[in-house]
Amino acid sequence: MRPTLGWQADGQVLRRVRLERRDLRPGDLAIRVDYCGVCHTDLHSLGAHTGTAPLVPGHEFTGVVTAVGSEVTRFAAGDPVAVGNIVDSCGECAMCRAGQENFCHEFPTLTYGGTDRHDGSTTLGGFSREYVVRERFAHPLPAGLDPAATAPLLCAGITVWEPLRHLGVGPGSRVAVAGLGGLGHLAVKFAVALGAETTVISRSADKAEDAAGLGARDLLVSTDAAEMATAGNRFDVVIDTISAPHDLAPYLKLVAMDGTLSQVGYLGPVTVETLDLLVGRKKLSSAGSGGLPATAEMLAFCAEHGITADIELLPSAEVNEALDRLRRNDVRYRFVLDLADLSEQATA
Ligand code: NAP
Ligand code: ZN
Repeated sequence: MRPTLGWQADGQVLRRVRLERRDLRPGDLAIRVDYCGVCHTDLHSLGAHTGTAPLVPGHEFTGVVTAVGSEVTRFAAGDPVAVGNIVDSCGECAMCRAGQENFCHEFPTLTYGGTDRHDGSTTLGGFSREYVVRERFAHPLPAGLDPAATAPLLCAGITVWEPLRHLGVGPGSRVAVAGLGGLGHLAVKFAVALGAETTVISRSADKAEDAAGLGARDLLVSTDAAEMATAGNRFDVVIDTISAPHDLAPYLKLVAMDGTLSQVGYLGPVTVETLDLLVGRKKLSSAGSGGLPATAEMLAFCAEHGITADIELLPSAEVNEALDRLRRNDVRYRFVLDLADLSEQATA
């Protein structure tokens, strides 16, 4: 086994612990994790953590390959790479064959809290100095993109990229993004770069200047019923990235005829009034993560358009502060942990 250091849940806080990564299988890469984004899903996971299996969060990271297995063909030691929230899938089902590994019929192996398909162990995430991954699930880091600000593209980015692309967003589309956080600010950047007329929906006007800076045309205040009413039937696509349970009705009312509300934020039971769909033949959809081809496409698009996340970079020792601040919505717009403080020299 390969010893490393990482941040593991102990109740509701993360503590620095020694971890072991598996020895490389023939198709594996060992990666020195340099930067890992802090996703709201990490908070949900910590909140739901029962302590029965180890929890090391982190599922959007970039780093450098340090060793390769005997059958690796696409990478060599020294290559910069990026890994998202899926690290394996069956590879044989219709979804995997279609490049939608995120919908693998046997369920994809998640980067943390998943079950390794070979040894049955619980996967441990990127809040750690090393990760071992099948090469197929690592992406070359595009040249020219800042590695720290690129890390969030691998979860927050791809989660909003897939629905935007599959809903055909492009020039002339009218898109609204509800919730201006990690996912939301990347959804705005993507929609704008795809040519859509883009609106932010936020709980207050506090982020109006930021929304404009991201290229949004305007900001709707979701708590202002009158303002929301004026925007009825206005958008072809509404991407809902809100992290808390909420009523979908006000957002469905904003969708234009034959348009779609894609609910990718809070994932849980929702109640829908059928009439809100019936009037205007509206669609309610969701999405999660992305397949390997879509992830590669997103990274190429970001390289071409110079898109990365707006980040606050923190030493990994401040991970608990980052989680507390994320809980309080005190982030613009993604925390990224610098894992250099976990190297053996730094801790000697
Ligand atoms: P985030 O950075 O915390 O952003 C969430 C945003 O939601 C906040 O900035 C806030 O926007 C809004 N919000 C928060 N609490 C709210 C409330 N009570 N009512 C209304 N709006 C509220 O979180 P994130 O990392 O972007 O993640 C967003 C959600 O997506 C999380 O639930 C996460 O678990 C989920 N997620 C899903 C997938 C997937 O595969 N589908 C992948 C990653 C994350 P305003 O301040 O603008 O109102
Ligand atoms: Zn995530």
